[in-house]
Amino acid sequence: MPNSPIRVRMAPSPTGLLHIGNARTALFNYLFARHTGGTFILRIEDTDAARGSQEYEDVIYRALQWLGLDFDEGPQQGGDFGPYRQSERFDLYKGVAAQLVEAGQAYYAFETPEELAQMRAQQAQNKQPPRYNGAHRDLTGAQRAQFESEGRKGVLRLKIPEGQITFPDAVYGPISWKNADIDDFVIAKSDGGPTYNFACVVDDHLMQISHVIRGEDGLSNTPRQCLIYDALGWERPIFAHLPFLLGPDRKKLSKRNADTVSLLDFGHILPDAMFNYLAQLGWNPGGGETQEIFRATS
Ligand code: GLU
Repeated sequence: MPNSPIRVRMAPSPTGLLHIGNARTALFNYLFARHTGGTFILRIEDTDAARGSQEYEDVIYRALQWLGLDFDEGPQQGGDFGPYRQSERFDLYKGVAAQLVEAGQAYYAFETPEELAQMRAQQAQNKQPPRYNGAHRDLTGAQRAQFESEGRKGVLRLKIPEGQITFPDAVYGPISWKNADIDDFVIAKSDGGPTYNFACVVDDHLMQISHVIRGEDGLSNTPRQCLIYDALGWERPIFAHLPFLLGPDRKKLSKRNADTVSLLDFGHILPDAMFNYLAQLGWNPGGGETQEIFRATS
């Protein structure tokens, strides 16, 4: 949304600690919002209720507050685009999913996990990449009714058109993917709950996010997200993916890696020191300027 007001978000899943890689991504969003007079939003991506928890959500609040990053909108602040927890937005996702089915852009597929496993085994044998083969793309009403009467619950899949998807990444430059490399992926699970890519697009659109600034692991999701925007006829935001911070083992920091340290474990140093360190990790003001000290409040 190039000409709309600047609105950026941090969208953590409350499934673990908040490490300094997450904090740096939050910081870049925050600085961009503050620099441009934009709005900085916190959205909690807790669709995976089994893994998320209130405890981890609290860790996110405490850690970002310690660092001095204050949100303009979020579960605690409220705002005009709430609710800001995905678990409270399921009706919105269902409405948009129905819109896609109505428009013929998405369809229910009824394969059982065993049938899908068989499909993948067959593809492995044929040295083909594992992917959904589109078998249920054009089911008739009678076929659908038959599957449902067998007690099968369908997943909702996006119908991927032919062609290729191209988007300009503000950091990596133009990125292109062949649609042929993307299968008809699931946007709503058999219990009706949205998958990450679907919920993320619906929310970024409805919350009028202008720039999606996130870690480079988002880059492989972005073509799929662009396909969802396009299927809905929605304008895409500007994407900017930030390179990872690496640990001493040269591997990316990950909340699932036991060696990764929580931002809150740095509580013994001044938050301004951390803010300053993160601000200059992979960036400097350039132009011969000598400023090396930056503060959340300056
Ligand atoms: N919930 C995703 C994560 O924590 C958010 C990715 C994004 O910013 O779109 O990785």
